[in-house]
Amino acid sequence: MCLPYKVVEVAGRGRCVTSVRDIHPNEVLLVDNPILVSPSTKSKAQCLQCCRLVDGSYKCPVCNFPMCNETCASGEIHKLECEVFERVDFEAEVEDVKIADDHYAAILPLRCIRMREKEPENWRIFQSFQSHCKERREANKDLWAYHDEHGVDFARDICEYKEEFSVEELHRMIGIMSVNSLGIELEKGYGEEMGFYPAFSNINHSCLANAKPVKMKDKTVEVRAKTSIKKGEEITFQYVVEIQPTRIRREMLNRKWFFLCSCTRCFDRAECGTFLGALLCQRRHCGGPVLPEQPTDTSSRFSCLECGNTIEYKEAVEIMNEAERNTQGKDPLHHLVEHIERFLQKYEDILHPYNYVMASMKMKLGCLYGNCPEYPLATMTKTMMMRKLQVCEESLVPLAILDEGQVGDNKWKGRLEKEICKIKCLMQIK
Ligand SMILES: [Zn+2]
Ligand SMILES: [Zn+2]
Ligand SMILES: [Zn+2]
Ligand SMILES: [Zn+2]
Repeated sequence: MCLPYKVVEVAGRGRCVTSVRDIHPNEVLLVDNPILVSPSTKSKAQCLQCCRLVDGSYKCPVCNFPMCNETCASGEIHKLECEVFERVDFEAEVEDVKIADDHYAAILPLRCIRMREKEPENWRIFQSFQSHCKERREANKDLWAYHDEHGVDFARDICEYKEEFSVEELHRMIGIMSVNSLGIELEKGYGEEMGFYPAFSNINHSCLANAKPVKMKDKTVEVRAKTSIKKGEEITFQYVVEIQPTRIRREMLNRKWFFLCSCTRCFDRAECGTFLGALLCQRRHCGGPVLPEQPTDTSSRFSCLECGNTIEYKEAVEIMNEAERNTQGKDPLHHLVEHIERFLQKYEDILHPYNYVMASMKMKLGCLYGNCPEYPLATMTKTMMMRKLQVCEESLVPLAILDEGQVGDNKWKGRLEKEICKIKCLMQIK
């Protein structure tokens, strides 16, 4: 079968995935399965075969880790570490199943070690990815120390891998997984699991992505095109939630994946028409959008697109931070709907209607009207219906730009579209 993509090496940028032909919206670009799965290194007691959260009543007869039952205890995935525990005669003592237990930090390095022993080809692929050890160590000293003690030292000392694996090698395994893995979606009642997908992991991020991963129940991930993609174009998806302004998004990306995004959206003052980071001009009779002059510079002056009026970076950010604080602190005498309405009224002349703080409050409000006991759909006045429609439509604007097309689920977009449809039908009847 001829794949619609290829992995290419670009000087200074590392690996990228590009399309080898023109792609239509919604087309499946890539299907991938994990070659390594592991519970998160900070996990509550969960079954080491199926990830179900367990109550501790059944324990693996070999290693004493809490599991579901005999079937899971003898499962193929758990066997990887269980054989090691058996060899060194280790028995786990997970005391409280309700809180995160450091025993789970050992599972990831042990499964990596077993992959090297049993699946050399997969190990070679895994090894070819970046681990950002230096950056991770500096960024989160506590987490590094936690992995060092409960993952690296555990594997070397308790599991007797000291001769075979250096401290650095083991940290590298944890790093590759932390930077390149994908969270696996499990049902309610299950813990957290991550998977390493060898082809999928080559896809880079863009804040205005042309593709999207769709997670299947069997842990397969399908990457689908959101837009038309031209032959030779790079295929990208969003690593972080869409609806954050550039300042916050770039910080998040740099903290978790250690790169400074330089996509079209990051360099566009209005973030491709979404205005998520915009204020409103306070000069009399203006009210134009006020945006950073250099969006990727975290000290850039903000200025009005209409009249050029400027404000300092610090002042602009403080206005948005204060707004974020004001979303909280509801007066117990007021209903949440009233609290949000007051908030929106207070900020309607200060923040752009699509500003991320405004958009998230409008989403909530749009979903509350007609769906809570104090504001039931049946008794909504015409004014309330209009208001519901207005806030739903306004908060949908940035989402519709950033998550174009109808690929997979987008929790908020789907919800807003449903609410809009419902209220429009009702308005026609009344
Ligand atoms: Zn299980
Ligand atoms: Zn076991
Ligand atoms: Zn970007
Ligand atoms: Zn202005």
